[in-house]
Amino acid sequence: MQPTPESRRRKDATGNLLLNRVMRLVRAGRPYLAADKPFYVRMDRACGGDFAQLWFLTRGCTWDHGGACTMCNYGHARSVPEDSMVESVRQGLERVPRGVDELYVSPSGSLLDPVEVPHRARRLIYELVASFPCSKFSLETRAETVTPEAVDELVAAMGARRVAVGMGLESSSPWILRFCINKKGHPTNFEAASQLLRGRGVGVYANVSLGPAFLTTSEAIDDACQTVQWALNHGADMALVFPMHVKGHTLLAWLHQRGLYRPPSLWSLVEVLARIEPEFLPRVTISWYRNDYGDGPQVVVSPSTCPRCRPRVLESLDRFRENPTSSAVAHLVAQECECKDAWRTEMEEAPERALPERVLDQYEQLARAFNLMDWWSARDEEIRAEVLGLDAPHVRPADWQAPPAQWTRDRHTLAH
Ligand code: SF4
Ligand SMILES: [Zn+2]
Repeated sequence: MQPTPESRRRKDATGNLLLNRVMRLVRAGRPYLAADKPFYVRMDRACGGDFAQLWFLTRGCTWDHGGACTMCNYGHARSVPEDSMVESVRQGLERVPRGVDELYVSPSGSLLDPVEVPHRARRLIYELVASFPCSKFSLETRAETVTPEAVDELVAAMGARRVAVGMGLESSSPWILRFCINKKGHPTNFEAASQLLRGRGVGVYANVSLGPAFLTTSEAIDDACQTVQWALNHGADMALVFPMHVKGHTLLAWLHQRGLYRPPSLWSLVEVLARIEPEFLPRVTISWYRNDYGDGPQVVVSPSTCPRCRPRVLESLDRFRENPTSSAVAHLVAQECECKDAWRTEMEEAPERALPERVLDQYEQLARAFNLMDWWSARDEEIRAEVLGLDAPHVRPADWQAPPAQWTRDRHTLAH
C-alpha cells in the first residue's frame, strides 16, 4: 500500500522505532544534571560582535525523553519549578555584560516547548530579556514548537529589538535524519517554521551537524555542505555548522567505545567551509568546535586534529568565527600537517558497501547488543524495506550521488 502524506507525517513524527528503543536504553541510568548549577554563561566572539550564551536548567528536551537524536546529551533534570527557571535567567543575566551584541538564551532543549518551559516561565523570561540592554536576542527551539501564537508572543515581548530563532535542522536529508540521527520530523518542518518566523520579521538560524553516526568522513562532509546550502535556500538567514562531540550516554559514545565511530576531524570542518560558495560565507558560522563545555554533560571525545597543529587550527577557526570571509577560509585551507595528509587519505577511502546496507548491518548489531532480537526479527523486513527506500520515497537520500570530494584550495584565495 502506498503511504499517504498523513501516514508519512505520522511516521516522521514517531521517529525511528529501533533507534528510539536503543536510545532510551543508552540513556537509562544517566545522572541528572546538578540542581545547584542551574545556569551558565559563556562569552565569545562571533561575526564581529560579542556573543553571550545563557543556558538554564529545565527537565530536558521532550524528544530526548522519547529516545530521539543519537548524538545528543543536552542533559536532563528532575522536575524544575517554573520560578527556578526564571530565577536562573535573572541570575545569569547579571553575569552578561550590558550592551552585548547578541544574547542567546537556551534551555536544555526548546524555549518554545511548553512541556519543557511552561508558558508563564517563558513570559517572565521574555520580560527579563526585554529589559536587558543588548542589540539582538536569540533563542533555540525545535521547528515543531514554532507556532503563529508563539511567534506573535515573542515579537510582541521584544518590541523593536532584533530577534532570531535557532532550530536544529541537523541534516537536509530526510534519510539521514531518520536513519542516522533519529531527529523526528522532516526538513520541511524547518522550512515551514522559517517562513512563519521571517514573515513576522524574526531571523532564522539553522544548526547543521557535521559527523552523524554511520557516515564515512566523505559522506559527513557532503551532507553538511548540502545541508548548509539547503538551509540558506529554504529560509535560514544563517547556517551554524556544529562538528559533533561524543558525549556520554549517547549512541555516538556507545559506537565510539566499540571502535565504530570517531568524531569528525577539524580538517573536515575546514573542508566544509572550503566548499561553501564565497558569497554564502557571511551567512555561515561555526560553533562548538572547541571542547569547552564547562560543567555540562561529560564529553568523551571532541573533534580535533593532532596536538602539534591543533592550537593553530583552533585559532584559525576562531578567526573565521569572528569574521567569516574568504580570506579566513583561505588561511584555514593553507594550513598543512601530517595529520591532514592522513585525513585526506581517509576522506578518499570509498566504503565497500552502500550506506543503507551498512546502516542495516549496524542496526542488527544494535538489536543484538541491546537484547532486542525478538523485536528486530518481527520487524526486520519492514525496517529493511524502509532503510533501502523501497516503500517510502520521502526517506530516500535526495541526490545521493554527491559531488566527488575535492580540495578547493583555489576557490578561496588569500587575495580575497
Ligand atoms: S538534539 Fe535537540 S531535539 Fe534532539 S534530543 Fe537534543 S535537544 Fe532534543
Ligand atoms: Zn596535525
